[in-house]
Amino acid sequence: TASGGCQKIRGTQLHELLESKHNVLFDCDGVIWNGETAVAGAPEVVRALKQHGKRVFFVTNNCTRPRQSYVQKFARLGFADIGEQEIFSSAYCSAAYLRDVVTFSGKVFAIGCPGVHEELRDAGIAVVEEEDDGPDVNISNCALDPDVRAVLVGYDEQFSFMKLAKACCYLRDSECLFLATDPDPWHPLRGGRITPGSGSLTAALETASSRKATVIGKPSRFMFECIASQFDLEPESSLMVGDRLETDIVFGINCGLSTMLTLTGVSTFEQAQVYKDSGEPEKKDFVPDYVVESIADFLEALEA
Ligand code: PLP
Ligand code: CA
Repeated sequence: TASGGCQKIRGTQLHELLESKHNVLFDCDGVIWNGETAVAGAPEVVRALKQHGKRVFFVTNNCTRPRQSYVQKFARLGFADIGEQEIFSSAYCSAAYLRDVVTFSGKVFAIGCPGVHEELRDAGIAVVEEEDDGPDVNISNCALDPDVRAVLVGYDEQFSFMKLAKACCYLRDSECLFLATDPDPWHPLRGGRITPGSGSLTAALETASSRKATVIGKPSRFMFECIASQFDLEPESSLMVGDRLETDIVFGINCGLSTMLTLTGVSTFEQAQVYKDSGEPEKKDFVPDYVVESIADFLEALEA
């Protein structure tokens, strides 16, 4: 009812909203957990939604883990019976994009964590092995693999000048695809610190190559298309719940979903209000339909 209304919602109204939806898409960090700690009540909420016949999907821009490792994380944090098929990560979806959308052949030069490499291999996509360039190797004499047809960049704590330089060389070939797992600028860590996100590494490569990456993760529509290709899923009967206006809420709006901001993560109610009150048409894609303090509020609403 409250399209782009930024409406704080709980109790009966939340009950009615949930009644009207068949699918709930949850962002992960800041929504159902923060780092290694589950959001209080989140395991019970996921279980209750399923008991009420809802389908639940997890849509994360975090490319660092393969799906199987998410299954283990869910179990460790107290979520019962979460299966790989419910988990859509930017690493998994990047591999799916290469396999199913561009029917990729050749090798991928991947900048990213093991999650990215494993998902690519699981999808049957060849990846350039990381080699230890010896002491006398530099960008003017390093080996380049002639079979590389795509560069994929994601969060990588081993990011280096050499990786950036090699990626740049591959991207000189305009036929070489340029993909990014996600555009996230940074992520909160414990103690008020932040870590740079994939988007910051992508920006370096975009500048150096004078090209623009195709973004797979939120807010791009592709992750929803990936879910919809595997499950029968109508946008109108789906709700996207996220903690970051610039990724999760824009994603939901791009895909025609109802959108909900939860206040257990990055974005605040005030930021949503600022977008809403700006009156600028291009800012309305950042305004959620609904706002909850925490998804823990779903429990009471489901019981209502
Ligand atoms: N990428 C990395 C490397 C992260 O550490 C995080 C959050 O911790 C994310 C992405 C964002 O994940 P999500 O989309 O689940 O909020
Ligand atoms: Ca998040």
